[in-house]
Amino acid sequence: MSKKVVVIGEAREGSLRNVTFEAIAAGKIISDGGEVIGVLCGSGDLQESGKEMVYYGADRVVTVSHDELQTYTADGYSQAVSAVIEDEDPEGIVMGHTSIGKELTPKLASKLETGLISDATEVVNEGGNIVFTRPIYSGKAFEKKEITDGLVFATIRPNNIPPLNRDDSLSGEVTAKEVEVKGIRTIIKELIRKSSEGVDLSEAKVIVAGGRGVKSSEGFEPLEELADVLGGTVGASRGACDAGYCDYSLQIGQTGKVVTPDLYIACGISGAIQHLAGMSNSKVIVAINKDPEANIFNVADYGIVGDLFDVVPKLIEELKEL
Ligand code: FAD
Repeated sequence: MSKKVVVIGEAREGSLRNVTFEAIAAGKIISDGGEVIGVLCGSGDLQESGKEMVYYGADRVVTVSHDELQTYTADGYSQAVSAVIEDEDPEGIVMGHTSIGKELTPKLASKLETGLISDATEVVNEGGNIVFTRPIYSGKAFEKKEITDGLVFATIRPNNIPPLNRDDSLSGEVTAKEVEVKGIRTIIKELIRKSSEGVDLSEAKVIVAGGRGVKSSEGFEPLEELADVLGGTVGASRGACDAGYCDYSLQIGQTGKVVTPDLYIACGISGAIQHLAGMSNSKVIVAINKDPEANIFNVADYGIVGDLFDVVPKLIEELKEL
């Protein structure tokens, strides 16, 4: 049965995050031929970003612009999105399982007195039933879930559901909605940028991650170079973060970021279960470790037993010649 689905978009410094387009693709599946309405909150003119959502498949977009929405707060965004949901009365809502999505969607679900399927890695239409797949037990198993009654509300893990091709011949209305945003209890006083900011680990296609085997912050330099050559970014195990080799914003795992890149290169990482929880669903895993018994080899598609300080420079050299 076709449904009206609201897709909550996310922008960072004026640019839409890729997960927004993935959420639109998921919204299309959930809608089963119905209408997909994008919602975008922020400040200033959101018309162009709204159009971008249309080019990726939204039938129309509602933007809510307000000075109080310049920076995300759960209070502000939930008021803005709730106002659109109230107008539209959708049968489905979908958003990326990002740090914002993880906070905003449960707040909205409780307001709407409905359930939520979080962190879906797959959405399929099985004869009109929308079935979500999501990892459980730190990624060791997957469960399939379906909402059989009421609002279909879900978040999707970045990098899992392919976006539709951008088509700028698509047309759809982008309308601005006025919402009185008030009573925000969180005041953002200052945004402190970490050096790693700019590339979002959870959306990166290639990650070169370093562990305690990297041995120092300087030891990360060859990994950064390899990431550069591959057009990727650097991540880390908690072992490397705890040792002070890199910032905690790079931590991947159960208590860090969950990533699903096309290529994950683990350098000097033993493969503790808490680390695997954050990366074992990567499409291709390459492990470089001098211990042939290291657990990381159990999840790796390709393993290189060797010293990372010999192997990584050789890889860089070879890749540069391609
Ligand atoms: P180690 O286990 O010390 O492994 C280092 C590896 O480097 C070894 O396998 C070694 O053979 C190899 N090595 C050394 N030198 C070289 C070299 N020159 N070349 C090649 N290989 C080399 N960990 C996470 O990563 N993310 C999390 O989110 C996380 N959350 C946790 C939550 C809880 C509640 C707990 C208890 C732990 C958590 N941990 C997490 C920690 C986790 O258990 C491990 O301690 C951690 O992942 C180990 O990091 P590591 O693999 O870098 O270090």
